[in-house]
Amino acid sequence: MRRYRMQSAFLSQGWAQGATVTVSDEGFISAIDVAPTGAPQTLSGEEHIDGIVVPGMSNAHSHAFQRGMAGNTEYRLSARDSFWTWRTAMYALANRIEPDDLQILATQLFVEMLKSGYTAVAEFHYLHRKRGGGAYSGTNALWEAISNAASVAGIGLTFLPSLYQTSDFGGKPLKAEQMRFESDTYTFMRAVEERIDADRSSRSATLRTGVAFHSLRAVPLENLREAALGLRKLDASMPMHIHVAEQLLEVQACVRETGQRPIELLLDTGLLDPHWCLVHATHATGEELKGLAAAAATVCVSISTEANLGDGFFDTARFLKAGGRLCVGSDSQSTVNPAEELRWLEYQQRLRKKRRGVLATGAETHVGTRLWRDAAQHGAQAIGQPAGAIEVGRRADWLVLDASHPSLVGAAADTALDHLLFAGGDAAIRDVMVAGRWAIKDRRHAAEDDLRPRFAALMRRLVAPE
Ligand SMILES: [Zn+2]
Repeated sequence: MRRYRMQSAFLSQGWAQGATVTVSDEGFISAIDVAPTGAPQTLSGEEHIDGIVVPGMSNAHSHAFQRGMAGNTEYRLSARDSFWTWRTAMYALANRIEPDDLQILATQLFVEMLKSGYTAVAEFHYLHRKRGGGAYSGTNALWEAISNAASVAGIGLTFLPSLYQTSDFGGKPLKAEQMRFESDTYTFMRAVEERIDADRSSRSATLRTGVAFHSLRAVPLENLREAALGLRKLDASMPMHIHVAEQLLEVQACVRETGQRPIELLLDTGLLDPHWCLVHATHATGEELKGLAAAAATVCVSISTEANLGDGFFDTARFLKAGGRLCVGSDSQSTVNPAEELRWLEYQQRLRKKRRGVLATGAETHVGTRLWRDAAQHGAQAIGQPAGAIEVGRRADWLVLDASHPSLVGAAADTALDHLLFAGGDAAIRDVMVAGRWAIKDRRHAAEDDLRPRFAALMRRLVAPE
């Protein structure tokens, strides 16, 4: 057990100038006393935290291997470059990665996530097979690479093996470049079940297994239903994620094939509940947004990736007004920064509506506070991790902002999160705790010196022609 005397903290009930937080040996918050902490004197078993403590953010959507292409696809191939031409480059990378490469990429990425304020991540993982398409015997080395990376980095991980079976609506067979992603429903369910059993016996405070369905393009609806119902019986709160309406072409193809839009189809299955997360509900209608809000499912917006790929605008204001639960993710890793994701949610609305403060409310007038608090809580819900707020019973996952950093100097007690989002305050993230352990201390991670040359060598190899 350890006690932390915090100078300033954003607790679930609001800002506290002085709080003492007790953390169990397992990394969970067991008590909070709100009172001025006085002079920074350290009693035995106590640590004084000088700075502003805020909840860590959950990254609800990540494909770790794509860290290997960030910055390398920002040039013009044709006058009609799009998501679909980017995808060709992504497949080429996916078909070069070996398990050791994936572990280096993911470890580097997870350290970057921690430094930018993500304390847990949902890894939406569809690299299942060896190069060439053969199956791994026994433990899947590509799955293990992600778990090992999370453990070295010290980040919370919700691993989401992703079902991937077809190349388009109507059961179209996979293309040659998609063969590493393939899994039949039964084998997939068995592999997830084994992993859940292993999670239960390891009793890890930071690791859990969920599941993803790549998209309605890639999973026939009847297979999705069978797997979702079967897996729900194994774990009533298992996170279930799906890419849903990122591209207009995919919405149109779905309508042509089924007569319904993707989100309509999912709502009609009756499967959606608070443990579902719909990623990129970009082209949702108003009715669909209301349906998702009513189901209490979360929507993950990764505005940096959606902007990078030219997907379209998500109507955040309308979704939040309907009571929708929103979270963020780094997705393609072109940007790994929760403050930037949230800032652009608001800026996109300002640009469209020609107003300011669009996503604030009467009850929470600070845009930064509203967006950070809600995305942290709903992100934790989406990925099924007991985090997202500083309160008793939740895991001790938090960030310490350096109050003397130029981006925060002059921040009043209740504007720190506004500075974090809108005034470069992400540069003030100094320390990061996950499950009661400091993963980042004074802006440094214990593994980063060892990691840097290995990551550099890997990147040089990946950008060279094969
Ligand atoms: Zn994605």
